[in-house]
Amino acid sequence: MSSPYPSLFPFDQNSFGRQSIIMSSICARRVLHATRPRLVRAHPRGNARFSSTSTQFKSSAPQASWLQDRRTFYGAGGMTLAIAALLWKGQDTYDHLDDPRDRKSLSKVPLNKLISGWIAFTFCSSPTWVDMSETLYNILSQIPIISSITNAIVMRTFFNQFLGGESTSECIPKIEALRKDHIGTLLGYNIEAELDGSSKDMQLILRQTEHVLSSIEAQGDLARQFWPDPSATGGDNRCWVRIKVTGLLPNPIALYHGSNAILEARKEKGLDRDVPYPGFPHDGDWEAALEGKGVTDADRQELMNLRAILEKIASKARENNVRIVIDAEQSWYQPVIDSLTDELMQKYNSLDGPTTCIASFQAYLRRYPQLLDQQIKRADEKGYKLLFKQVRGAYMVTEAARWKKGKREGPGPVWATKEETDASYNYGIQKTLSTVADQVRQDGHSRISVFFATHNSISIDLAIKFLERHGLARRTADTTGSRYQEKWQGVLPLRSYMVSMPTLRKDMTT
Ligand SMILES: Cc1cc2nc3c(=O)[nH]c(=O)nc-3n(C[C@H](O)[C@H](O)[C@H](O)COP(=O)(O)OP(=O)(O)OC[C@H]3O[C@@H](n4cnc5c(N)ncnc54)[C@H](O)[C@@H]3O)c2cc1C
Repeated sequence: MSSPYPSLFPFDQNSFGRQSIIMSSICARRVLHATRPRLVRAHPRGNARFSSTSTQFKSSAPQASWLQDRRTFYGAGGMTLAIAALLWKGQDTYDHLDDPRDRKSLSKVPLNKLISGWIAFTFCSSPTWVDMSETLYNILSQIPIISSITNAIVMRTFFNQFLGGESTSECIPKIEALRKDHIGTLLGYNIEAELDGSSKDMQLILRQTEHVLSSIEAQGDLARQFWPDPSATGGDNRCWVRIKVTGLLPNPIALYHGSNAILEARKEKGLDRDVPYPGFPHDGDWEAALEGKGVTDADRQELMNLRAILEKIASKARENNVRIVIDAEQSWYQPVIDSLTDELMQKYNSLDGPTTCIASFQAYLRRYPQLLDQQIKRADEKGYKLLFKQVRGAYMVTEAARWKKGKREGPGPVWATKEETDASYNYGIQKTLSTVADQVRQDGHSRISVFFATHNSISIDLAIKFLERHGLARRTADTTGSRYQEKWQGVLPLRSYMVSMPTLRKDMTT
């Protein structure tokens, strides 16, 4: 699922209409998984690939050349038919553009972006096409000429829709354009462990780390330019960087061994008896990851290097006044990721200083409602600010497959139904916002910042409802959106809490 391309998550995707946001939630990640990795590793530039394959092509026997011609013809014909069929099928998807805010947002999107988005989302809305996409892409990539056409189409549609650029510098104009519209960004260099957990070269990891560090510098520079005085927002400047821990070490197996050792140690201590897999972060987890059963010397070295890299990233983020978001990944790596995130939050999110580290919690994990309660309590007991991003979770299919393959007993780590995941997500919204409201009532400020990362408009509406109910936001007469009360501005970095939340857009100007 990794791709060495920066992705940009606008905090408020007003450049997309609600319709496209809902459609993107259907299977955007699966398409990305299917298309991006090969694109980069096999042939970073369509032209380079074309010249090498065409040389082979010329030296082939005449029959092979005829065969290639036929494949080219079939490939091109098939692709054209597929696009035509999908576009035709996609015609009935425009029937519920009923929100005036969607119309307003969509009216600002350039036509070419609308067309490329339409093609991308039409493909994404067909599970059959999504399932076929990787195979199809691999086949088309083998065919001379067609491979460059395919590459060009993928770059102009899926890539253009879901990714910010091929380098940080390519993303900068987009970040600037979003900022003009008062939209903050979460810049991420998309690297993570391969699904099969295979190893990567250390040099690659070092290069990837450098990309993360330079993303922080770039966001820091932009932040100083856009927002010289972030004191009105509790030190936040809406320029964030996202990190995937599994992309920062050569052998993700070390994370797996370390995570198992943590779970074993907790079991021996009698912790987490009633907590679904993979449990909660506790004191002593990191030591268990280094010293526990099944952890080899090589694993230990990898884990220590990883910790040093994260420390470097966090201190670079602190220097640049940029917040880093540590993504949540597969549950079998999560105990080590939880432990490192917990340590960074304790160190970099002190109650009286700036805050730098944002955790990520997946509501699709059965542990989530209990985890959230534990995290709120733990932050209070240990005396740090709890900053987190709440997502539903992206690895549902691989989580189920792994649980089945491992012949594990009992239900898997993920809720069995979407309704249960939704209930868990809603619990997160209610619990967090009511806790924030209580803290504000008691102390005049909150020690929690949350960022509900979702494309789901029902979740967004629910969050707005709770903000209003707790007196943390109010609707203004002049806009259809919600606006925070002046007195909470700066107290609640929560204003950055909504991805794709057009209704709060105005508020981000302050
Ligand atoms: C800014 C941002 C950051 C993100 N960071 C992360 C991250 O760090 N880690 C991560 O894992 N994901 C991350 N995601 C992806 C996220 O977890 C979701 O996969 C994606 O956003 C779709 O969920 P939704 O709430 O937007 O939409 P919805 O369409 O409402 O929800 C889809 C989600 O519901 C859940 N679901 C669907 N069917 C079932 C079922 N049968 N049983 C149980 N659950 C089900 C799955 O989690 C699925 O992804 C991020 C997304 C965004 C926008």
